[in-house]
Amino acid sequence: MNHHPEHRTPTIEYATEAPIDDILSETHKRTFGYFAVRAADIHAKLVVGLDEYPEGSEDHQKMVEHEDTMKLQVVEQLRAAKDAFIAIDDDSADAAERYLTGIAPAFMNKHIASLTERGEPELTWKQWLEQKATLGQFLNILQVHVHTVAMQGGSKILNEEFEAYVEKFYDAVYQLAIHDDIIAQLPKQKPRIKLAIGDAFDTGIRELAGYYRYDTPDEVVLAQSVSPGNHVRRINDIVGRFPRDLTHELVHALVDRTRDMVDSPLAARWFDEAMTEQFSIMIREQNNQGLELNNIYIAERKLLERVLRQSPDDYEDSLIMAHLAFSGEAWDQDLFTARVDAIWKSRDVLEKINNAVEAEERRLSRGPNGLKGHWLHDAALTNVTNVLNENSESIIDRIPDTLLQGSKIAALGLKK
Ligand SMILES: [Zn+2]
Repeated sequence: MNHHPEHRTPTIEYATEAPIDDILSETHKRTFGYFAVRAADIHAKLVVGLDEYPEGSEDHQKMVEHEDTMKLQVVEQLRAAKDAFIAIDDDSADAAERYLTGIAPAFMNKHIASLTERGEPELTWKQWLEQKATLGQFLNILQVHVHTVAMQGGSKILNEEFEAYVEKFYDAVYQLAIHDDIIAQLPKQKPRIKLAIGDAFDTGIRELAGYYRYDTPDEVVLAQSVSPGNHVRRINDIVGRFPRDLTHELVHALVDRTRDMVDSPLAARWFDEAMTEQFSIMIREQNNQGLELNNIYIAERKLLERVLRQSPDDYEDSLIMAHLAFSGEAWDQDLFTARVDAIWKSRDVLEKINNAVEAEERRLSRGPNGLKGHWLHDAALTNVTNVLNENSESIIDRIPDTLLQGSKIAALGLKK
């Protein structure tokens, strides 16, 4: 047989044989149906294990009792999952439908289609699962789902690509030609951080590409790939989303300090997201040229830009101060809020803007057709930005110069 050392066998990734618990993080345990699938796995092992004990023995009897308890738990967990499934609202139903059609084995899609051929009304996946599916069939769907998520999260290729990307991210942060003070504030040690795959119900169906939670600080979450096709294609799909989505979540995890700003106006969601995405763009593009407004969190970044451009000549300096506040200490946050007050010639300007955003969100969420989720945030922020453009006095009252004198704004070095 000819041996060509330079000819490498293409990497093929096989489904892992590891039990799902070995590759599931805390985030994975929030995966839709996880507890039902876990209970069913334990139950199946108990049934198989029964053969190992002679019938009529004490051990056999104990196993039978254990198996009975587990069976009840499986049913209880399945009912809970089914209730949660039925509660998925209409806004998310289409996304859930696309997802289930994509991940379900072909024979299950055929089964649903065959019902129509037999003269029954056409059913969506959601309707079939609610109205027709037995608990056993519902369990099968959950098993496919939970194992799809576990396989993506446990992928060796994905985790290697992730490790390499975190290295690149850290180098890029240090190479950024931004204010030295910002670099000085970043942690010197490359922190240990893990990637978790958030299941479609927790991410895609809620229109989230990923998220970061302060209560699981060493884990960033990216949305499960719902691409039709095979496992390898789905892993490539997730890796392809690293520059946009992972960069953003890594900024939350490694640079963002707004989590510590509990009583500060800078803890507002819009400021956090605007700065996080702005920082992500700087890392991706390796520049600090203002706001690039063609990606995500546009409404948040437009509001930030409007707030800072109240004094256009001082915009660049204000942006650097915003970055210092975002990644820095309490002192930097005080300095930045004072800066914003100074350019608007008022007091507590960020609080006033936050209150206006909250009031607008309350107004827009009211009623049966009230907005929700990111639609609500976007609309409220856009409206507040427009008011700041057209009639800013209705949100931010100007304070006479004489009253402002003597405050710490004198030390801020505004150009005029
Ligand atoms: Zn974010």
